[in-house]
Amino acid sequence: MGWNDHIPDLSGEAEAVLSGEAEAVAVKAKAVVRCELHEDIVIDNGDPDARSYAFAIGTNRWKQGDMGCTREEFIDAIAEAIDQSADECPICAKYRDD
Ligand SMILES: [Zn+2]
Repeated sequence: MGWNDHIPDLSGEAEAVLSGEAEAVAVKAKAVVRCELHEDIVIDNGDPDARSYAFAIGTNRWKQGDMGCTREEFIDAIAEAIDQSADECPICAKYRDD
């Protein structure tokens, strides 16, 4: 039994808000950068320092407001936002290859 077993699974909506916030933090820390042409796409910056910085910003962000999740969940979401970002924008890559 973990200490947070009482916390129910996040709803889909809460999860969407969480991943949006996590992505914003990752962008702010420059762990990922938004594509200049496609603002929905974030690209991995491949910078381990920026990744650590993102977790620090995320911790502060979490302390500021009601995120509706534990700090660990928010940090996980930030890690996920960084890990799921591509090395290059897939849309730009497609146009370039065509
Ligand atoms: Zn693009």
